[in-house]
Formats: sequence, C-alpha cells, structure tokens
Amino acid sequence: MIIQLKQDISEKEKSALIDEVNGIGYKITEVKTQLGDYLIGIGKADFDIRKIGKKAGIADIHIVSDEYKLVSKKWKVKPTSIDLGDGVFVKDGDMAIMAGPCSIESEDQIRKVINHLKENNIKLMRGGVFKPRSSPYAFRGLGLDGLKLWYELAQEAGIKIVTEVMQVSQIEEMYPFVDIYQVGARNTQNFNLLDELGKVDKAVMIKRGISGTIEELLQSAEYVFSGGNEKLILCERGIRTYEKASRNTLDLNAVPILKAKSHLPVVVDPSHGIGIRAYVPQMALAGVMSGADGIIYEAHEVPDKAYSDGQQTLDFAQSTLLADQIRKTFALRKTFELL
Ligand code: PEP
Ligand code: MN
Repeated sequence: MIIQLKQDISEKEKSALIDEVNGIGYKITEVKTQLGDYLIGIGKADFDIRKIGKKAGIADIHIVSDEYKLVSKKWKVKPTSIDLGDGVFVKDGDMAIMAGPCSIESEDQIRKVINHLKENNIKLMRGGVFKPRSSPYAFRGLGLDGLKLWYELAQEAGIKIVTEVMQVSQIEEMYPFVDIYQVGARNTQNFNLLDELGKVDKAVMIKRGISGTIEELLQSAEYVFSGGNEKLILCERGIRTYEKASRNTLDLNAVPILKAKSHLPVVVDPSHGIGIRAYVPQMALAGVMSGADGIIYEAHEVPDKAYSDGQQTLDFAQSTLLADQIRKTFALRKTFELL
C-alpha cells in the first residue's frame, strides 16, 4: 500500500496512522522524496482501505500489490514528465532524441558532434567519460576533465548532457556538469549507487541490466525513487540471450509492458540493443513504434575510428537521416494512437 501524506500532517497524526497500519499487520517504511512524503506499507492481510483512508493527514491511499510501488502506474496514473530546462523534456507523448559517441574522446570530437546535433535540432548529447569496458586494457574514458570540457561546449550550444556515472564517489563531482545521470547495464543492480542517486535532484536514466528482467529494472527505479529522487527514465538496451548473431537481443516487448506498468518515460537504445551499425536505424524506428518516449543512439564523425563501440555507431549522414525518420515515424505513431 502507498499512503501519500498531506504536507501539513502532524507528528501525532502520523504516529496514529502508523499504529493503525501496523495493527493490520503491515510493516511501514517512510519515504521522503523531493516532491512528497509517503508511507509504504508491506503486508499480505486484507484490509478496509476506506477505514485507513479516513484517518487524518492522508492526501491519497492506494493498494499496489506489485513489488515496486512508487514507480507503479497503479499508484500514479499520470505519466511522469522529465523537465531538463530550456524547453527540453523526456516525457510521454513526445520523442526525445539523444545522440553522440560511445566515448567522449577529444575537444575536436565534441565540437564536431555538437555541430552535427545543432544542425539536426537534437537537444541531448550522449557520451561516456567513465567507461565500463569488458577489458581493463581498453580505453576507459577522459574522466572528469573531459566532462568539464564537454559541459562548457554543450552549454554554449544549448545542448543537454547524458552520461554514465559508475560509482558513488563520482556523483558529486559530476553533478554540476550533468543533465541526466546514466546508470549503465552493468550497474543496474548496484544498490549503493541507486540509493545515492536518490539523494540528487537531477534526472537519472536507468538502463536495463544485461540479464535483468523488466521487474528488476522497475525495482532498481524504485530504489532511486524511494531514496528521494522522482526524476527517473527507464531504458531498454537489449538483454543477453542465447542468440549470438547480434550483440544483445533488443527486447522491444519491454516498452509497452513498462509503459503499462509504470508512469516513468521509456527510452530505447538500438545501438547496444543490436550492436550492428547497419541495423541500428531499423531497430530505432521499431523502438519508436513500440511506444518509446525517446531513442538514444551512438553517432561519431568517423565511426571506424571510434575508441569504443564503432561497429554499432552511425556516421553523421546516417544520423541525420535517422533523426529525421525517428520524427516522421513518431508522427505516424501518433496517428495510430488516435484510432
Ligand atoms: C553506453 O551507453 O555506452 C553503455 C556502456 O551502455 P550499456 O550500459 O547499456 O552497455
Ligand atoms: Mn557504447
């Protein structure tokens, strides 16, 4: 059960409420986010919701049987809109495009990518400065200095930054230079990291774990939300299956399912999802049709020279074409939604 508390609930009213809920055999966890105060009740017994709902200090009460609670649509029907400022949103009924290299490599590269994004009216730039690599000998990113340089140039161009945070100690140092913290597929269940991201007031995009279920992704989002931060985005980026012909299996089934289960926006990453440059555009457009609220893909001035993930990275001509087709496909999807 989720009980949303009134802002002006007194301590006395709150303890009376907790006693009442404990009395029916439910264990209570108090959650304070940047937007509201909640009591999360966990238990199995049947109870009369009207009886509890009548207690003083309650703004709203809902029965949510899912393991995740606050990210569930059973509680909050209205979709969550992520407002990044300057008219940039990630939200239901809209199509956010996030593009850029796998890794941030140099000032020259940043400038070229930013120009490309500006030419195509793309407002969100992706790129890693802390790179999780399968091999410790591979390029591991430019680090904080790279992020600062990138931020300066992106800021001038009015472009927002999406970048991966790999560990707790990076959250604070990255904070001034980030618009969306990305939690990578290898960190989806790094609960310490998720807890700490609950304390910041910037958006967090959580990628689905490499072998993670849809439910586990939602549970990870619940960690951040219950830690205090409601600004969450979910990302389907492909899962590991027995199939070896593609890098991952982009599970587009997850998109309508996540949208039905949760009020959070959902973004699709076709680059990591299929891992083969030539097929990224098809899967991006399939992602749009599956109901995604955004597409994130890798683009680089010379993909074959990219320090990481070149095999799945589009060049600028391909990216220009894809951005246009994403918008056209989204417009087409909207006509279907009217039916
Ligand atoms: C990335 O976005 O470059 C990345 C490393 O993604 P993932 O965590 O999905 O593998
Ligand atoms: Mn990559």
